[in-house]
Amino acid sequence: MKELSAIAVDVTPPDRFREYLGTQAKRLTRERSIIVDEVFASHEHFDAEQLVARLSQRTDGNRVSRSTVYRTLAELEKAGLLRKVARSNDREIYEHDYGYPQHDHLICKKCGELTEFQNPELNEILQQVAAQYGFRMEGHRLEVSGICAACSRPPSRGHRKLDMI
Ligand SMILES: [Zn+2]
Ligand SMILES: [Zn+2]
Repeated sequence: MKELSAIAVDVTPPDRFREYLGTQAKRLTRERSIIVDEVFASHEHFDAEQLVARLSQRTDGNRVSRSTVYRTLAELEKAGLLRKVARSNDREIYEHDYGYPQHDHLICKKCGELTEFQNPELNEILQQVAAQYGFRMEGHRLEVSGICAACSRPPSRGHRKLDMI
């Protein structure tokens, strides 16, 4: 995975989540708190089962049930902290949508590799398109599907460029 670095935020993810839960008359329970901490401990893309696996490796006795993980992921998405970026092998891939810069993805259809990129010119083009429709753009998400460099390499090792012609 090739990921960008985080950007600074004033309100921490748990606090932001607590604010959202408050609007839903819900509380930041111990389970929700454990999950949000684990989710924001690293910036990797992940799917729900990977998160369940990470949480089940905890040795401090703070285990969280699978159903709670799924429910909390949906809440984190509604709270604007996470977003689904893609489906890979029928799994939904999540990433941070809070404290993270606007970016787009190249998604390999073969291995599922997600590569993040930023391109200011792309942003300008989209601004122009939006302006043509009298549309005020606030953001965008672009998913480029295809085959990554590693997967498009021929299986044989070494540089046999002639074989590729
Ligand atoms: Zn690939
Ligand atoms: Zn991303």
